[in-house]
Parts: sequence; C-alpha cells; structure tokens
Amino acid sequence: MNIVKNAAFILTLMIILVSCGAESFEDHTIFTNATIWDGNSLTVQPNSALITFEGRIVDIIDMNDPDFPGGATVIDLGNRFVVPGLINAHGHVGIAKGLQTGPDVHTEENVKNQLALYARYGITTVVSLGDEPQAAFDIRDHTNFADEGLARLFLSGPVLNPSVAEEAESAVAYLIQSNPDWTKIRVDDGLGTRSKMQPAVYAAVIDASHSHGVPLAAHIVTLEDAKGIVESNGNLIAHSIRDVPVTREFINMMLEKDICITPTLTREVSVYIYSERPAFFDDPFFLSEVHPEVLEQLESPDIQLQYTGRAADYFREALPLAKANMMSLHNAGVRIAFGTDSGPPARFQGYFEHMEMEMMQNAGMNPIEILRSATRYAAECMNLDDELGTLEPGKWADFVVVSENPFDDIQNLRSLHSVYIGGNEIKQVVSQQ
Ligand SMILES: [Zn+2]
Repeated sequence: MNIVKNAAFILTLMIILVSCGAESFEDHTIFTNATIWDGNSLTVQPNSALITFEGRIVDIIDMNDPDFPGGATVIDLGNRFVVPGLINAHGHVGIAKGLQTGPDVHTEENVKNQLALYARYGITTVVSLGDEPQAAFDIRDHTNFADEGLARLFLSGPVLNPSVAEEAESAVAYLIQSNPDWTKIRVDDGLGTRSKMQPAVYAAVIDASHSHGVPLAAHIVTLEDAKGIVESNGNLIAHSIRDVPVTREFINMMLEKDICITPTLTREVSVYIYSERPAFFDDPFFLSEVHPEVLEQLESPDIQLQYTGRAADYFREALPLAKANMMSLHNAGVRIAFGTDSGPPARFQGYFEHMEMEMMQNAGMNPIEILRSATRYAAECMNLDDELGTLEPGKWADFVVVSENPFDDIQNLRSLHSVYIGGNEIKQVVSQQ
C-alpha cells in the first residue's frame, strides 16, 4: 500500500516538476549543440547548450542532461564554438572618421557607427580611454546596446592634463560631472614633443580621481613612468613598456597591487605600417569593412611619408620588446587586459582587435590565455565583471559563435558565425570562413 502511495506521490511530483519546467522555460532561449568556453575554466564544455532569459545567462548544460528543459526557443548552433563576447579594455570612439579628426566627426552617428563596427567583429564591449566627444557620453547614458546592436560603451572622457598638482582636483571635479567610468592621463613626453607629467602631478590626479571613486588609467612608454604610476596607486597601465625589459621589482609591484596592463601591440604597428602598402590591405576580413577612400589615402605617397621618421622608427624597433615585456608580465601572473588603442586614424576598429589577438599568439600566449585576456580579465580589470566577461548565470548574454575551433588557433576567431549582445543577434557579422 505504502509503495503504491509513494509511487503515486512520486509520479504526481514528477508531473508537477515537468509541467513547471515546461512552463518556466517558455520565454527562454536555448542555444544547442555547441562547444562552450565559459570564460572561467581552462577547459571547454563540448556537446553543450546555453540557456538565456531576457538577455541574460541562465545556465550552461550538457546536451544529454536528463532534465534538458522543454518549451524554450531553440537555436541550433550546429556544433560550433561559443566564447564570451570580446572586451576591448582600451579603445577609442568618436575621435576619428577614416583619417579625419576634429569637431566634424564628434557626432552621435559616428560613435554609433563605430560601436556597430566593433560588434560586427565580435567586440561586444569597448572601454574608450580618452578624448571622446560629449556625444559618446550621451550614447553611453541613453542607449539600449542590445536592442540597437551596438558594442557596450564605457569611457573616460577628455584626457586630464593639469600642469601643477594644485589643479588636479578641479580638473577631476569638472570631469566628474559627466560621470566617467575611468579617468585617463598621459605621463610620457611624446618622444620629447611635450613636457612630461611630473610624479607629484599624476599622484594628485590619481588621488583626486579616487576621492570620487573613479579608477585611473595611464598612458606610459617607459618602465620608470609605469613604476611611478603603480607606486602612486594608478589602476591600469594602458600600454606596453617599451624602453627596457621589465624588472622583477616591477613585476612584484604589479602583482602586489594587482594592477593590469593593456599591451596595445597594434598601436605600435599603426605608427609605422603605412609607410608602405601593408599586406593586410589584401585581407578580405579587413577589406569588407574599410572605406575605399581611406584605403586610397593610405596608399598615397604623401600620406605614406607621414608614417616615417623618428616616432615610426622608435615604435617599430620597440615592438619586439613590447611583446617580450607582455610575456614576462603574463608568465609572472600579471593580468593582461586585452586592449588595442583602436579608434584614432588608421587604427581600424574590429579588425585591429583580431590582429592584436594574433600578435599575442605570435608572442607566445595560447588561445585560451588570449581569450581569457579578452573576456574575463578585461572585465575584471575594468570593473565590469559583475555583468560581463564570463558566461555565468545572471550576467549579460554577450557571446560570440565561431565555426572553426578558436582553442586550436586564435585566428579561427575570424570564422565568426554570429554575435549576440544581451541575447540579441548582431546583423551582418564580419566573417572569414
Ligand atoms: Zn589610447
């Protein structure tokens, strides 16, 4: 009797559970038949499915899960690969259009076009570190990025440049009215073209920024300046160290204070590469988004000449050291936050992010390490990890689907199949199948 009763009870319970399950998953979407890397682990989950609801991650489950939910909208990913949306921790929006700069390009339309371009290449978030127009703040504050198919935007606003420490507080206070996500300073002297920001001045800017609860990113070239920034409690080293090899002392400082660095290797490339016609001008993955007029300009001898000279020579020669320093820091456990410095003239948003990842691979990082840098670490280093960077329950459903295995070779990220921001699919992704 008891057994029959129990069996009936269990059966009833099962019916309730199954019907509840079917009901609760009705408005969910399940992306099936994928190999998924969640951004956290060092291994991937083959034969898996990603469940989303209202633009956010619910779970990753095995395709053979006995409780595989019914009733949801199913999108079959056809045995492709899923990684979290890529995050550029150091880009720029709205400061150039093609090779043109100045007030004419400081428009909402230009900012939105650039965010759409990033998204089509799988860059689902960009932290713009410096000199954005007011239009960029307006877009950050009044845009539903998922609905509009745009990369999410965070920004620092005008680069702060007080000449004396006493001016730091007022410079920061003025900027704070726009509610920047970061503040940004340039410490180096631009190879002798401007005066260097003095340690007392940047220390005052860092303190002022922190007093308003805003982290600070610093543009540096030299180890000495990077050390000064870390000693003064700056929060991000925004470029590679390009003058001397990093020392054990510096590595320990970075680790102790838990500071990240964005290598921006493609930034160095952009300073000299156009002195002659670069090979990537024949790359379909590049050509599908570049404006023909910009190509033509960059192939003209007058413009080519602008990419020669002292700065071009300096940064071309510094590039191997920049890579070696990135690897020394990475191997020691310093978090490399993926960042390119794309957005100024001829630093092509979207394409340069893929080039940067390929350069990181050539320098010695493996695909999972590069992907971790471009997802979880970029999110953590930029204070975005509450909502972004990994495919964990509750976070935004920002992810990239690729056809070829990116864990074998980072270049396979070019085989973009689809890109999702907040669960919405981006139209017309750029792909090299
Ligand atoms: Zn920059």
